[in-house]
Parts: sequence; C-alpha cells; structure tokens
Amino acid sequence: MLISGVQKFTMLDFPEKTACIVFTPGCNFRCGYCHNPEFVLPEEIQKLKKNFISEATFFRFLEGRQGLLDGVVITGGEPTMMGDLGEFIGKVKERDFLVKLDTNGSNPERVKPLLEKHLIDYVAMDVKTSLASYRSLVGAGGRAEKIAQSMRLFMESACQYEFRITLVKEFHTYEMLEDLAKEIQGAKKLYLQSFRPGNTLDPLFKNYHAFSSSEMEEIRGIFSRTVAEVTIR
Ligand code: SF4
Repeated sequence: MLISGVQKFTMLDFPEKTACIVFTPGCNFRCGYCHNPEFVLPEEIQKLKKNFISEATFFRFLEGRQGLLDGVVITGGEPTMMGDLGEFIGKVKERDFLVKLDTNGSNPERVKPLLEKHLIDYVAMDVKTSLASYRSLVGAGGRAEKIAQSMRLFMESACQYEFRITLVKEFHTYEMLEDLAKEIQGAKKLYLQSFRPGNTLDPLFKNYHAFSSSEMEEIRGIFSRTVAEVTIR
C-alpha cells in the first residue's frame, strides 16, 4: 500500500489506545476546508512521492513497537482508495496490533468485508453535511447513496465507531444540520469539530469562520435529539 507518511506515536487519535498513524495519499473528495491539500491533490502528491515510505520500512518499525503501542491508525487522504488496504490491514493484524480506520465513507463496499472479517477495531467516519448538500461541499465524489450506506454499515456493525463533523458557519445551515441529525438517527457517538481557518484546499474557505461557542451548544442540542453521545471538541 502507498504510505505518504507515518507519525510514530499518538495518544489522541485512537480512543484509549496508544498508536502510530499511517497516512495514505490521495482523496476522492475536495472538501473546501481540507487542511491537507498536499495529501489530496495529485499535483501536490507528486512532489511528495520521493518521501513515501515503503511497507517493508513501516513493518520493520511496527515490529519494533510490539508491546509498546496498542494499535495503528490508518488515515488519509482517503485510505479506502487503496486497492490493497485489506491486505495491509491483514499484515497489521498478523502482528497483533489493533486497527482504527479513518474514512470519508465513500467506499462502503471496500470496508464491509473488512468489518465482517473483524479486521477493523474502530472506525471514524466524517459525516460532512446532510446527504442532499454533500456534493456542494465535497465535489463530484460525494455520492449520497454511498455515504448513506456507510452510515448504516457502521451503525449496524459490532465494531466501535464514531461520526464526526467539521462545522463551517458560512456553509452549514441549521436546516442541513437538522436533516443530517435525522439521517444519523440512532448513532452512538458524534464529535462536533469547529472549522479552523488557515491553509485550506479552496482559497474561499480561508475567509470562512467557525460557529461561536453558544451556536455550537445549539447545534449540539439538534444532534442530541437523535444521537446518544454528542461531544464538542
Ligand atoms: S475527505 Fe475532505 S477533508 Fe478529508 S482528506 Fe479528503 S478532501 Fe481532505
């Protein structure tokens, strides 16, 4: 599998576990607020290719962390774009590490067999906005039926999961959020994340804003009607 980077240690990205993070290059979405355009845009990825890490190098590192790390977080870009994601995860599990997958939910067919084989221990899926407004935020890759399938897949799976959403004041309307709350009705866990202006994929978003603390509380109220645990972070 292509590995564009490795973070050797984190206590923040895999709930209650110590882990390393594997980054994969490329994404089929074009979220305006994306802070990692270098891992998303093909022309930027080309520039980083010389720094990619081979699987052999990664697994040598991982074997040296047995007993020291609990798991591996696989993130992107969008990891499910990697055709050999399943093989890679299999090799991680053979070495007795837990696996957390971060995904944008665009590829339920690739994730479902991995869940069925219990190869994934935790999934974090970005739910970007209501299904009807997906494409206007993420571009042509945002196929609502795939996103809806992924939402259902994780909610019905025995695997631990979380949904998370990055909220942008100039994009997300209360109507969209009410719709999304209905679409994830019955979900266990949702994290509300504030948009941070900065280096964004779409330059327009550089001038956009986060919701205020009181607005975030109001939004928490919307989701608390349908989701068991809603946390602002
Ligand atoms: S899903 Fe969106 S935010 Fe995530 S890497 Fe792709 S473009 Fe960036």
